[in-house]
Amino acid sequence: MKWEGNRESDNVEDRRGDEGGGGGFGGGGGFGGRSIGLGTIAIAVVASYFFGINPMTVLSLLTGGGQPAPMQQQQQQPRPPQSQSPEEARMVRFVSTVLADTEDTWGAMFRANGANYVRPHLVLFSGSTQTACGTGQSATGPFYCPEDQKIYIDLAFYRLMKQRFQVDGDFAQAYVIAHEVGHHVQNLMGISGKVDEARRRMSEKQSNAMSVRLELQADCFAGVWAYHANEARSILEQGDIEGAMRAATAIGDDALQKQARGTVVPDSFTHGASAQRVKWFTRGIDSGKVANCNTFEAKQL
Ligand SMILES: [Zn+2]
Repeated sequence: MKWEGNRESDNVEDRRGDEGGGGGFGGGGGFGGRSIGLGTIAIAVVASYFFGINPMTVLSLLTGGGQPAPMQQQQQQPRPPQSQSPEEARMVRFVSTVLADTEDTWGAMFRANGANYVRPHLVLFSGSTQTACGTGQSATGPFYCPEDQKIYIDLAFYRLMKQRFQVDGDFAQAYVIAHEVGHHVQNLMGISGKVDEARRRMSEKQSNAMSVRLELQADCFAGVWAYHANEARSILEQGDIEGAMRAATAIGDDALQKQARGTVVPDSFTHGASAQRVKWFTRGIDSGKVANCNTFEAKQL
């Protein structure tokens, strides 16, 4: 992916090294009284991001049931930003550049439809941080909070993607941000509000099915962004799309559930199966049309 030298966003809040950190993926946070290897934790964290469910639930799946002990919080020394490695500084520039690109792309699309795109903020944090949706933990993976319209990400998540799932490449990393921005777009369009309201009147099974549609639409929106960003700035390089597909395939709900218990239980899917994620991302990136992302009316996901 070609991104260096492109505009960086001003809407990035750097809370790395703030008080309240710790308990992240860095190796500090342990699970009291249980021996769960860091590898298991890493799988749970990456998987739960792609699942959209509580990492504790995934952990209990992977370790064979029972309630896992709560994660211990360990205090980390606050770390001045200038002590970051060149690699980390580059990651921050990358994230700011991708966010700026989504601002330009969605801003233009909203304007073309007579609407105003309110830019979301992106918060970099380590360990845990306060959000309008409660305390955000790195252990849940990157997430979007509709109450404060902010995207939260601990950059250590990218290291996990690489180490545990060999999901590498900057376009796969950009896809993670574009997916969260997709949730912001759903929020601005009033889709998330309607879905939340409808889900309150539903059974758990129906509610999970609704979550899948919301998540697949965010994947499709990520594809719509990539289409327009590529039209405007030729960001895509050989192998980029395949890299993002590998991310979706490696960690689709079905792939991980199979690994965890040997069978697939479709009713408990919240993010969609691998093939569905690939399909909706492809619909977005092939057409660039928001109208092609109507997962809620699709008969076949
Ligand atoms: Zn999502």
